Amino acid sequence: MTSSNKTVGILTVDVEEWFHILDDPAVPKFADWDGLEARLPRNMERIFAILDEQKVKATMFWLGWAAQKNPDLVRQCAKAGHEIASHGFRHVLAYEEGREKFKDDIRHGKKVIEDIIGQEVIGFRAAGFGTTSDTPWFFDEIRAAGYLYDSSVFPAKRGHGGIVDFKLEPHEIKTSHGVLLEIPQSVIEICGKRVSFFGGGYLRISPIPLIKWGISKLQKEGRPAVIYIHPREVDPAHPRLPLKIHRRFKSYVNLRSTFPKLRWLCENYKFGLMRDYVKK
Ligand SMILES: [Zn+2]
Repeated sequence: MTSSNKTVGILTVDVEEWFHILDDPAVPKFADWDGLEARLPRNMERIFAILDEQKVKATMFWLGWAAQKNPDLVRQCAKAGHEIASHGFRHVLAYEEGREKFKDDIRHGKKVIEDIIGQEVIGFRAAGFGTTSDTPWFFDEIRAAGYLYDSSVFPAKRGHGGIVDFKLEPHEIKTSHGVLLEIPQSVIEICGKRVSFFGGGYLRISPIPLIKWGISKLQKEGRPAVIYIHPREVDPAHPRLPLKIHRRFKSYVNLRSTFPKLRWLCENYKFGLMRDYVKK
């Protein structure tokens, strides 16, 4: 281990299928999902194996639809000591969906998962980190649905979602339904620009020395490294959707690098669960 015994942050997995990509006309519609090839079980087995071997516990944001399809896997995940949190039910962008429909989706996702594991789900992450300055109601609805923390803010410019002037460190937000802890995605400031090396496509294109430097910078600044991956990213052979060029690049670039980077992260750093950041 290059780090001390102290946890460096939180390893998170957005548990969804290979076709749960956003913002492109080629992405299959909800009504067609049932007929598509399921690759989640074997991909999760790969992730479980490495977490098990390295004794790392992760926070898993399960998409309600995927949980409903794989209830035994959700229970296996909980039994292994990973935290089960919610990624909504239908993988919708908050700013596209609008308040009422989004509210129903996050409540439904929570209930589906709670019914499977028989435990309360307190954490939420929105599809595509899809909260923006256009969704001022977002935190109110998350807290009103019964979640105690949220990890949906990407505090930098990005394709979808992103709130560029958002606070970088975890902090409490007062909503009309009580306090909500927000744990934003990790970004660091370099020459006044906010950048990420810590999840999805950012993790895939960043070389390990850069990720290592970024994590040590976060540590010096007293912020947790919030890492995120998707099951499809440990499965470079998954089918490709005919996405538009920019979305294709972001979704498929360097897929072979996620698994070795996950191994490197697990071998070198200690991670805690997101729920442990919530004040009891
Ligand atoms: Zn997602």
